[in-house]
Amino acid sequence: MARLLLLLPTTTYRTQAFVDAATKLGVDLVCASERPSTLEASAPGNLITLDFADPAGAAETVARFAGRRPIDAVVAVDDLTTVVAAAVAGRLGLRANPVAAASAARNKDEMRRRLQAAGVPAPRFRRVALTENPTRVAREVAYPCVLKPLALSASRGVIRADDPDAFVAAFRRIAAILARDDVAVSGDLAAALLVEEFVPGREVALEGLLTAGGLQTLALFDKPDPLDGPFFEETIYVTPSRLRAETQARIAEVTLRACAALGLTEGPIHAELRVNDAGPWVIEVAARSIGGLCSRTLRFGTGMTLEELILRHALGWKIDSFDRERRAAGVMMIPIPRAGRLVAVRGQNAAEAVAGVEEIAITAHAGQDLLPLPEGWQYLGFIFARGEGPEEVEQALRSAHARLAFEIA
Ligand code: ADP
Repeated sequence: MARLLLLLPTTTYRTQAFVDAATKLGVDLVCASERPSTLEASAPGNLITLDFADPAGAAETVARFAGRRPIDAVVAVDDLTTVVAAAVAGRLGLRANPVAAASAARNKDEMRRRLQAAGVPAPRFRRVALTENPTRVAREVAYPCVLKPLALSASRGVIRADDPDAFVAAFRRIAAILARDDVAVSGDLAAALLVEEFVPGREVALEGLLTAGGLQTLALFDKPDPLDGPFFEETIYVTPSRLRAETQARIAEVTLRACAALGLTEGPIHAELRVNDAGPWVIEVAARSIGGLCSRTLRFGTGMTLEELILRHALGWKIDSFDRERRAAGVMMIPIPRAGRLVAVRGQNAAEAVAGVEEIAITAHAGQDLLPLPEGWQYLGFIFARGEGPEEVEQALRSAHARLAFEIA
């Protein structure tokens, strides 16, 4: 029986989807997390505690484990474990990205430098240390610009500034976010931020799978809500894209060039691009699959999930079809409208009754403290819809959302 190691950050939404995929494939699953599990003593062969902040140390721990129980594949779940997965795979000789490539994809400054060096279209940028004087830097940059932390995700801490006052406010706000207890970034990655030219245009997300440096597009999602700031809340994703076939082909081509520039060669990627009259621009490429519960929108071949496809790839198993089902599909990540404590969610039945709506997963629970962007990173939940075309799916998502009411104290 093949044995697969899954690296699970404590904050992930995706444990169940990956465990289900492993069960379906009949592999022996070993789960690694950062906090020692109370179950570890009772299932020592299937649970490991690793320090995800120490990739080399984690790789040694896994190598010792693998000496007793050989491991055939390693898979990172979400951004926080991609570098550790690369280190473990490198140590055990398994299929994965080089550590330097996974690290570059986790560090927005390094990513920008590599894209620039390779001539991949991406915004102009400047790294600014948190010790610099923001008032002085604010006089030197062009507007509008976007300020962002080097290594957070889900748009956390990403803020547009249209003038020097907004720049200074955004700079201080990001510095405060980086100092929060619930931010798992430290060292150099927490000592600076990035300032980028604001790229106008429509945004898309490309979900892909790399094999030996070649890119298979799994889905291209349109993001029909305008993302103009000052914060960049992700809401609706709909596939297939309504962009012209030629534009979609350019997006795939630029994404592949970006992967090559970063040195990514194996496994899932999630790329965000903006498209305007000058063509596609890379906002970012992450060496992981789509976040949250959004992968539920995707089904391949005769019903294969994205997680199953990722595990098969890591194991080097055959994948019969990369074709997404014919119907259009979409998800709405329900944004947190304001800070407070969630009291209740109403209207779920009415929202679920909207034609085309398949499921509403409310992931926040009553009593939970909610924090919107830019400080927060979570969603209230997810709405899923399917239909004949993308317009219909988008409309179903909007109607369902309009029927939901969130009572926040
Ligand atoms: P994260 O990794 O946290 O998602 P990103 O760098 O991808 O951070 O930025 C999040 C979102 O902010 C993007 O999806 C995009 O909508 C917006 N954004 C980021 N950088 C730019 C930019 N230079 N120009 C325009 N929009 C941007």
